[in-house]
Amino acid sequence: MENSQGSVWVLAEQIDCQILGVSFQLIGQARKLADELGTSVESVLLGDHIQEQARLLIAAGADKVYLGNSPQLEFYQPEIYCEMIVNLARERQPAIMLIGSTFMGRELAPLVAARLQTGLTAHCIDLVLDENKILDAKIPAYGGLLSIMCPQKRPQMATVAQGVFPKPELDETRTGEIIPLDVPVDISRRIQTLEVVREATDGVALESAPVVVAGGAGAGDPEGWSKIADLARALNAALGSTRPAVDEGWADLETMIGQSGKVVSPELYIGVGLSGEQQHMVGINNAQVMVAINNDAKSPVFEQVDYGIVDDCREFVPALIKKIKEYQEKKVTC
Ligand SMILES: Cc1cc2nc3c(=O)[nH]c(=O)nc-3n(C[C@H](O)[C@H](O)[C@H](O)COP(=O)(O)OP(=O)(O)OC[C@H]3O[C@@H](n4cnc5c(N)ncnc54)[C@H](O)[C@@H]3O)c2cc1C
Repeated sequence: MENSQGSVWVLAEQIDCQILGVSFQLIGQARKLADELGTSVESVLLGDHIQEQARLLIAAGADKVYLGNSPQLEFYQPEIYCEMIVNLARERQPAIMLIGSTFMGRELAPLVAARLQTGLTAHCIDLVLDENKILDAKIPAYGGLLSIMCPQKRPQMATVAQGVFPKPELDETRTGEIIPLDVPVDISRRIQTLEVVREATDGVALESAPVVVAGGAGAGDPEGWSKIADLARALNAALGSTRPAVDEGWADLETMIGQSGKVVSPELYIGVGLSGEQQHMVGINNAQVMVAINNDAKSPVFEQVDYGIVDDCREFVPALIKKIKEYQEKKVTC
């Protein structure tokens, strides 16, 4: 289907030649939007040794994949990636451009938006079309959902975190076109990624953890925070955080859950010393059982969880860890 009104694009991302989950999830949502618009889904994939991966994007729902496959593209290179995407977008005129809120996406999306002189909505938690078929990008704000729209400029751009949309089923029988892209030769490069060194991660990965313990400002200080981290360790849970815990330097940005952080879907979520602000809670919408520990009985967090414990976390958490350890030891000796 040739696009009468511009296609829906997904800027896909790969690391170590593997497409990220968020890129597949965006293809799934792009498919829905494109079907409603009566247009096609197109994806841009840049990397090295990634021909086979391009086919997976078609299996997920893309009609066309623009593939830059070159050793120069092995790692994310902001200036080259941006130049290639901008050139292609100027030529192809997509209506919508979606990208994951990953480290790459958070940098690349505003670079591309600025060059194309269009609008970008960051950290969306839903993407729909309004009655005029304009992209309605929803973000949490003012205690509700806010719609951000870009009615005149194109493409309408949005970033979305991993886990907001489900991954579509891959259909290996789907067919589509893979269009090779040349790497431009004459780009001035002030920034160059020479190698990627991965930090060893401590503990369980947040996005896939069955149990998540998240701490907030109520931890009070590094010592209070270390108790929350101990609780996560005792439960073999992943440790998450709110923004104040990151701002205080107790937790890494990587652990932040919410609108501008990660989206988690554990079987059990325990929020410690946090108030249940919407920007945090949108990141745990999919948790099965939710527990909060807060010393203020009137805290809004208690309206959002299944079980609430009103207590000072600095006293309650060590006592809880002691009980957990006693229980675990009893289980081992039985
Ligand atoms: C555009 C935007 C994006 C944002 N994105 C995010 C995001 O992705 N993730 C995120 O987390 N935030 C985000 N925020 C910030 C968010 O709005 C809140 O400010 C933040 O989530 C509040 O964190 P908190 O609950 O730890 O702190 P607070 O709101 O200060 O709550 C602390 C809680 O701890 C309780 N407490 C205090 N002492 C104790 C104690 N001794 N024992 C037990 N309880 C105690 C208090 O009663 C209080 O309820 C964003 C904000 C904006 C504007």
